[in-house]
Amino acid sequence: MLTIKDGIILKGQDLTPVRENIVIDDGKIIEIAKDVCEGRIIDASKAIVCPTFLNGHTHIGDSIIKDEGYGLSLGEMVKPPNGVKHKALSNVEDEEIISAMKKSMWYMYNSGTTHFIDYREGGIKGVELLKKASKNLPVTPIILGRDDSFYGEDPDLRKVKIAIRKLLKLADGIALSGFGEINDEVARLITSKCKKAGKISSIHVAESMHLQDDSLNDFNKTEIQRGVDANFNQLVHCTNPRNDDLKLIKDSNVVVCPRANATLNVGVAPLNKMLTMGIKPVLGSDNLMLNSPNLLRELEFTLKIMSVCYKNYLNPKDLLKMATTNICNFEINKFIKKPVIDVNQDAKLFIAKRYSKNPYLNIINRCETKNILYTMDIDTHINNV
Ligand SMILES: [Zn+2]
Repeated sequence: MLTIKDGIILKGQDLTPVRENIVIDDGKIIEIAKDVCEGRIIDASKAIVCPTFLNGHTHIGDSIIKDEGYGLSLGEMVKPPNGVKHKALSNVEDEEIISAMKKSMWYMYNSGTTHFIDYREGGIKGVELLKKASKNLPVTPIILGRDDSFYGEDPDLRKVKIAIRKLLKLADGIALSGFGEINDEVARLITSKCKKAGKISSIHVAESMHLQDDSLNDFNKTEIQRGVDANFNQLVHCTNPRNDDLKLIKDSNVVVCPRANATLNVGVAPLNKMLTMGIKPVLGSDNLMLNSPNLLRELEFTLKIMSVCYKNYLNPKDLLKMATTNICNFEINKFIKKPVIDVNQDAKLFIAKRYSKNPYLNIINRCETKNILYTMDIDTHINNV
């Protein structure tokens, strides 16, 4: 039993700031009130208590090639099977990749992240490697696998079906690199099997203007339209929406990756427009080769790049929700314990030093990893980081 005393808490799904005490027993929040105090006391009078982050999109496998290939194009970097990352991943020992992924997960944890949704390359074996690497760590990966049999214009559907079945036994879902590598029939097969199994189907869409052009030329549909039509329940990027794309995804689970998009020189997702349309995106840091998986850095960059690109301000509270509670709106959230500070929820929170009176900007604009005093979740109860 412990009490986090007198902190500014970002409470509930709306992150409402309240100055109250939180009582935690066995990893669960049992009471939030001004006058309660039980067990060990953590003085949070000079701190903010924030839900832990969920990183909505990573490729943790490329932790082995951090910062390699800077300046190359999107295709040269990440397109399977000959992109820089895929060549590197096919030439690496298991132990090397496990060790690099472990280091990245500790880095995430130290910067306030307890969950991440990963696009795991390398088929079944790739999924198994991440499971092995994350064993007994305080960070939980939600693992989306893929298989080489999915690619090409005329894939062997019998092989595709077998691969889907095997992947869904082990992983939390299936994620595809993009429509450039697969046909619509394979896409539909994957989404329907995932849906049946209650798992996630995810794909990169509209990452660059050029991919949208190709899709319009070849299929008379944008990549976003194809993603919606094929029933993917998670769309990653949506950086360059065209025509009625934003209307089409107003009820979709959208993940945006501003730092990765900026690194690859493909634009920045129109977040204010998305918010106006009722879309509630989740923030991801994308390829570990391009970016650190540090959502504190992602948050600050996103806040500022929005005013540079669109000449309007992003509401800091809406932005902080993209790294925390927006995941509660995703239909995939049965895999994910809610990162919400409220009674009867798991204590998934971190305590950070307070520097300013604006609790949202305090996290986005001021907070660095070293200012996180404690991170807690149900598995670890309490860790002094
Ligand atoms: Zn990605």
